[in-house]
Amino acid sequence: MLNFTSTVRNFSLPALMAAAILVGSTGCKNGKDKQNTKDSTSKVDSASIAIPTGLGSPITYDPNKRYIFLAFDDGPQPPGTINCKSIFHEEGVKATFFLVGMHMFDPLRKRIVDSLNNSYPEFVTGNHSTSHGFRDHYASFYKNVDSAVNDVLKAQNDLNLKLKIARLPGMNTWASAGEIKGPNSSKNVAKALDSLGYTIIGWDIEWQFIKGSTPKQGAEQLAADVNKMLDGNGMPTYQQNAIVLLAHDRMFAKPQYADSLRKFISILKQDKRNVFETLDHYPTVQNRK
Ligand SMILES: [Zn+2]
Repeated sequence: MLNFTSTVRNFSLPALMAAAILVGSTGCKNGKDKQNTKDSTSKVDSASIAIPTGLGSPITYDPNKRYIFLAFDDGPQPPGTINCKSIFHEEGVKATFFLVGMHMFDPLRKRIVDSLNNSYPEFVTGNHSTSHGFRDHYASFYKNVDSAVNDVLKAQNDLNLKLKIARLPGMNTWASAGEIKGPNSSKNVAKALDSLGYTIIGWDIEWQFIKGSTPKQGAEQLAADVNKMLDGNGMPTYQQNAIVLLAHDRMFAKPQYADSLRKFISILKQDKRNVFETLDHYPTVQNRK
């Protein structure tokens, strides 16, 4: 089955290439508009582009920028998810939410998922399985490839997800177009999902937590680590000039930690080379044939 990017690519190549440049610059401008002014010019630009939906449309990378992909897991988990969504919106940054099917068990959570699904280009939603790997029983989850794949496919349907972007529960695994990297136990599941057109996204750095939901690193420390990696002075990232940050929505339920998330973003924004993007624009998603 064709993934969305190839569907778009087949649509009309010359028009698409022109549109891609527009979409790219619109995306960056959009974030700044939200931060500084209420100018709605970028929205008008987006609406005039003849792409069936903006999801999965290519962007052109600027080699002078560094791309930060905030990818928050395990939602919907209010109030954490609601806080994250508000903070990203107020700060004018894009982000990706990897959602869990079984966490959508009441009307409030369903509304959160609907709202996130309809927030493009600000937010993208991705698949984090139905059961979160049999409720964190990863060994048995990854041992049976068919049941694990079905668990992910069910979440795609239940959460009404548009894009085939997934993060495997409990595993820092990457997969795209036959290239798989990650723990051996997860590789067969990653391979099967990749062959179904899913891009699996791992992470380059994690905002870790203790006691289930308390952020471990402070905002300054984590922002310094992100900048260091983007400067090429830390662990190499999976894709050059791009960094994927993993965090969990629930870590930002309490006001003091929500403030910490806001501070983390504002420190990163001080470096004008830093651009926040959604994972539909990550290289391994964009480059799939
Ligand atoms: Zn998770």
